[in-house]
Parts: sequence; structure tokens; C-alpha cells
Amino acid sequence: MSKPSRIAIDGPAASGKSTIGGLLAERLNYVYFDTGVMYRAVTWVALQRGIDLADEEAVTVLAQRIHIEVTQPTLLDGRQYTVYADEEDVTWQIRRPEVDRGVSPVSAYPGVRAALTVQQRRIGQAGRIVMVGRDIGTVVMPDADLKIYLDASVEERARRRYREIVARGEPADYERILRDMRRRDKIDSERDTAPLRPAEDAIIIDTTAMAVNEVLAEVERWVYKCDP
Ligand code: C5P
Repeated sequence: MSKPSRIAIDGPAASGKSTIGGLLAERLNYVYFDTGVMYRAVTWVALQRGIDLADEEAVTVLAQRIHIEVTQPTLLDGRQYTVYADEEDVTWQIRRPEVDRGVSPVSAYPGVRAALTVQQRRIGQAGRIVMVGRDIGTVVMPDADLKIYLDASVEERARRRYREIVARGEPADYERILRDMRRRDKIDSERDTAPLRPAEDAIIIDTTAMAVNEVLAEVERWVYKCDP
């Protein structure tokens, strides 16, 4: 039985996509690619260059021109990978709260999505890949060999994000994180282009009460069962 070569993992913020995607890729010796970093990089660079995030045309042009590269980690500081935007290391900057707040409106622009989706498809074509995001199973790789959709209650996801920020030694406010997450969920799932939703053939896993190793075991059960 052959293993699925192209694996899509989708779900809302802090549903466990990156953790599970990274671990799964490591176990399978596949490439791990987190598409969220591309939307975040566009948002961060727009903020840096003083581009108004409400200016759809300017943000779209930026998304078309910017060169985003994701490589193996270049520093041992807890990063899963290194992200470059036009040659500059933006790995940690793209996790800042202002990016969290600005990224959903940016990723709702059809022109931004079109520019980034083309690159994601190209990356996915090579196979032996775990790609995570919001629309991987529905739009980027609708023919993926295995589609997983991870979900969890919004309160649990806000708690996870809170703990992550505290672990990095940064100040965190749970109520604000919860509010921002609700807002981001709403924009991501109600936008017209590629809204957040499980593909019809996705396996949905509610991770609210599950530990990381339990989720990983469940996903691996599907990996070894699935025969494309
Ligand atoms: O996964 P992460 O929280 O880093 O993604 C940041 C944002 O990027 C999401 O809230 C969503 O608005 C957008 N995104 C997207 N499509 C993807 C990945 C991320 O719209 N495939």
C-alpha cells in the first residue's frame, strides 16, 4: 500500500495545523509548507512600507511582486522554518499582533489569493508534501491524496494561542486574543473567495479535548489507511 503523497491540512487559527503538519512531515520525511506565512509576509511588508491594508490594489500589486521564500530553519530559536520576504528574514515579525489583526482582510482580496495560490500549487506539485492552510483541500490542491480538517472550540484555540505567546516571553491578553480570533474566524469563513470550510472529502477531527500525540496518531491512522 502506498502512502498519500500530497497531504492537505486545513482548519481555523490555532486548531493545531502547524504543530500536527510539522510533526507529520517530519515522521514521513516530507516537505512541510505552511501557506499562512505567505499571507502574513504580505501583510507585514505592507505595514512596513506604509501601504494602507484597505487599499486592495496596492496590496494586490505587492502580493504579485514580493518574493517569499521558506527554507529550513537558519537559527536555533524555536522556529519551524525561516521565512524571507524580499531577502529579509521576517520569521518572527509575521507573528506580531498587528499582523494577526491585518492578515484576514488582506487574504480576502481575490488578487492576493490568486498570486499566492499559483506559487502554492507549484510547490505542491512535487509531492511528498504536507501543506497547511485554510483552502488547501478545496482550492490549492483539490486533488490531494489525503485531506484533513482540524477544528477546536474558539475558547480552546484562544487558550493555545495565549500559551504560545506567553511561552515566547511576550505579553498576552486572553480576552483580546479571543476577540481577535472570533473576528478572524468570521472574515476567513465568510469571504467570497476560497472561504474556510472543509472539503467534501476531508476527514474532520475535533481536537478540543485531544493532546497533540492523540491528534497525530489519529492523522497517521488515516495516512496508512489511505491508498491513493
Ligand atoms: O494559519 P495562519 O493563522 O498563520 O494564517 C494567517 C491568515 O492567513 C489566516 O487567518 C487567513 O486569513 C489567511 N490564510 C488564508 N489561506 C491560507 C492560509 C492562511 O486565507 N491557505
